[in-house]
Amino acid sequence: MNENASKSFLFSFFGGLLIGSIAAIFLKMFFSLSTTAFMYLMISVGFTLVGSLAGLLIWINSTKDDHQSIEKAQHDATHDSLTGLLNRAGLLDELEFSIQEARENEMALGVLFLDLNRFKVINDSMGHDAGDELLCIVAERLKKAVRSTDVVARFGGDEFIVVSRGLLSKKSVVSVATQILKSFAEPVSLAGGKQIVSTSIGVAITDHHDTRDAQELLRDADSAMFEAKRNKTGHAVFDDSQRQKNIKRLEIEQDLTAAFEKDEFVVFYQPIIDVMTRDIYAFEALVRWNHPTQGLLMPGEFLGVAEEVGMMGKIGDLVLREACAQASIWNHLSASARNVKMSINVAEQQLTNPDFLEDIVSVLSWSGLHADQLILEITEDVMVEHLDGLDALRRIKSLGVSLAIDDFGTGQSSLSYIKEFDMVSTLKIDQTFVRDMNSEGADRAIIEATIAMARALDMSIVAEGVEHKEQLEALRQLGVHKMQGYFFNRPVAAEVVDPQRWFGRNQEEPQERSIGFKPVEVSHGYAQRGDAS
Ligand code: C2E
Ligand code: MG
Ligand code: MG
Repeated sequence: MNENASKSFLFSFFGGLLIGSIAAIFLKMFFSLSTTAFMYLMISVGFTLVGSLAGLLIWINSTKDDHQSIEKAQHDATHDSLTGLLNRAGLLDELEFSIQEARENEMALGVLFLDLNRFKVINDSMGHDAGDELLCIVAERLKKAVRSTDVVARFGGDEFIVVSRGLLSKKSVVSVATQILKSFAEPVSLAGGKQIVSTSIGVAITDHHDTRDAQELLRDADSAMFEAKRNKTGHAVFDDSQRQKNIKRLEIEQDLTAAFEKDEFVVFYQPIIDVMTRDIYAFEALVRWNHPTQGLLMPGEFLGVAEEVGMMGKIGDLVLREACAQASIWNHLSASARNVKMSINVAEQQLTNPDFLEDIVSVLSWSGLHADQLILEITEDVMVEHLDGLDALRRIKSLGVSLAIDDFGTGQSSLSYIKEFDMVSTLKIDQTFVRDMNSEGADRAIIEATIAMARALDMSIVAEGVEHKEQLEALRQLGVHKMQGYFFNRPVAAEVVDPQRWFGRNQEEPQERSIGFKPVEVSHGYAQRGDAS
């Protein structure tokens, strides 16, 4: 009984008793009847009963309200107010229960972790109402795609969880993932237009031999989801190899801080060749980590972790300083080096730093490098995700620095954004298209379309990943003149670059820098100086 209900009950009870007593005293005083005692008793009991009954009714009513508000509070605590699905707290309860149930019945259980692709872009460009509408549509699609016994929850933001229960085999969990991916194939009607919405699904499967609890299964499904996103495979299943990878990632995470103190990062340089003049047009600065026990680590092995733990800005800054200083040193060693640019990759965490513009200005003045020698490479995805950072890029461009879109064609972005990137002067065609451009398939057509678009937008093109003469010839025929790839040179340490041989046209042996000739022989096992071939 709540406080108000008990008060009204007591008030009615004692109120009734009091009124009854007063009435009885009144009767006794004015009508000294022999039945006074009886009347006294009857009237007080009568009023008491009436009062109590009223109190009881008030109490029943208020406990009903109480019950409803408790139920509502419980529902709100375990459900998402936007989609009506279970929220994180509700999911954890359900998942613990489902794990127990699967163990008792010796069944398999699948936890599917979904994250929408490009949700941020839709939310930022179409507005939060459209974003909310999309989340509700996704919730409905998910409910339809799974069985009624499965659990669907919104984990937060654009993350959803499906718990697939009562499965006979682990295989059937994967078919649930496929079913969900199919349900996303249909475009979504959003804010008066049609949008293709896709998702990446990470799957963790458990059976009665497994001892993982709800949090651990969610962690593993989340990690598989990242794998699916990275590889653009739609879905990925968490397995032993993934577990090993995670252990390695954890080690890397622990060693990253010390790597700065011990000065273990090295910057390698890969030439970008102008195949018309046969000169080096630019160097791309590429970071490596000289790990004390694991040897020379490539960016793919540690940049993801650095990004996750928020250290990418620091690494990017180190590369920026190192590469600008190196280019400036080459300027001093060879007059022709002044014509060669330094192309540096910019990470998302650098771009979102409000001091980025100032950092560039200060690095240029500290290193003495000319602004027109600096190129900043930003991937297509990062550009699209930070449309609000375009003004900062315009200001950087006004310093005289050039901007390039890296890995063009691999992002999730829509071509319609390209016209917003008026400050960009170069598109770097990703190596995945160059790799198969001479075989059957769409790659050559994609390259041709990219070239046509770049020309229309007055942008120049750099082709990445040129490994064979045939690729070089095919690209040259299409009018691409700037190329980078193992065919010319692997990335090498700064000391390998001999300014007298590598820069300038007026050298004695021009052929040595020409197409097909590798200025540097980088042998296996000598990775300190260049990437092994
Ligand atoms: P990216 O910027 O697209 O760099 C080109 C990558 O392609 C480099 O890989 C390079 O070694 C590799 N490559 C060059 N020519 C060929 C070729 O002919 N065939 C093949 N298969 N690969 C070729 P790397 O050094 O492993 O770097 C991978 C990515 O890591 C880079 O891709 C870039 O996105 C990122 N990265 C590297 N250094 C930095 C850095 O200092 N800062 C940031 N933010 N990202 C970096
Ligand atoms: Mg790059
Ligand atoms: Mg690239």
